[in-house]
Amino acid sequence: MVEVKERPKDRTGPRAQPARGGEAVDPAPPFRKVGVIGAGQMGNGIAHVCALSGFHVLLNDIAADRITEGLATISGNLARQVSRERISDEQRQAAIKRISPAKTLDELVDCDLVIESATEQEDVKRKIFAALCPALKPETIVSTNTSSISITRLAAGTDRPEKFIGIHFMNPVPLMELVEVIRGIATDDVTFEATKQFIAKLGKQIAVAEDFPAFIVNRILLPMINEAIYTLYEGVGNVEAIDTAMRLGAHHPMGPLELADFIGLDTCLSVMQVLHEGLADSKYRPCPLLVKYVEAGWLGRKTQRGFYDYRGDKPVPTR
Ligand code: NAD
Repeated sequence: MVEVKERPKDRTGPRAQPARGGEAVDPAPPFRKVGVIGAGQMGNGIAHVCALSGFHVLLNDIAADRITEGLATISGNLARQVSRERISDEQRQAAIKRISPAKTLDELVDCDLVIESATEQEDVKRKIFAALCPALKPETIVSTNTSSISITRLAAGTDRPEKFIGIHFMNPVPLMELVEVIRGIATDDVTFEATKQFIAKLGKQIAVAEDFPAFIVNRILLPMINEAIYTLYEGVGNVEAIDTAMRLGAHHPMGPLELADFIGLDTCLSVMQVLHEGLADSKYRPCPLLVKYVEAGWLGRKTQRGFYDYRGDKPVPTR
């Protein structure tokens, strides 16, 4: 397990006494059931890896059809893993059996961990936590997969800031090795340790990030993507030239505009807005062209159109 940085243990909440003299923290009982809220591209990936690692999963979304689509995506992705001999057919079948749809948040009542992975908007997430927390056991850990929003602020709006933590998965979840873990100011050591054990059980590596806007990966990645969009906006290059330049000239596996479409342009814009507002530095100003694409509803792959048009056989640049 790689830990980039760990915060000193004496900065946490009520259950954080144990740090004295480096005593071990009381272990939390292992998780059995995990609730995932938001069945979009991240939520279905999170449900997939949790189920494959032996956790029972309840998958919730505000839109019932997104749950159905999410389950179909998981099924297709598991089948692909079988065909590539990454997992056995028994593992695929067992994983599918472990995932159930949850039409309401009340159904998450006996979850040991809930991972919120709904749309990247603070008011959406706040409303989810306000409706969710009263339905949960007091000991349930509540987490968010936010790409950028303050964990401390989201935690403060819940009934359990000490049991609230950021668990930031990377896209696509089944393939990416890293999970960022972000403690809010009140997150206790038991929650932190239980989260690390959970991520290790998923077979992922951990980078611990402090609770500053966009954490580590997106603090570095999104300004690069935003700069690529400015490069397009200012006419320095077209979509194809910019992506080819970064793929072949910097050996990035995907060009930055292709990657923006993959992430979702709405998510990219939200992250840039959080960086801009949170760090009050004009270098994080979201590119007006990114704003325009989002206003048009051209959100990238998920809506079939962004910097590329995905409606035909092969992606065609839109500029
Ligand atoms: P998405 O648009 O694919 O999915 C979001 C889902 O949330 C949708 O299915 C939507 O119906 C659902 N939703 C909206 N409001 C809801 C509510 N009140 N209750 C339940 N479900 C609700 O977005 P995504 O890319 O899966 O992103 C989800 C989260 O993951 C965001 O916080 C995002 O920042 C984060 N994230 C995204 C990426 C990425 O590359 N896209 C990477 C890491 C983290």
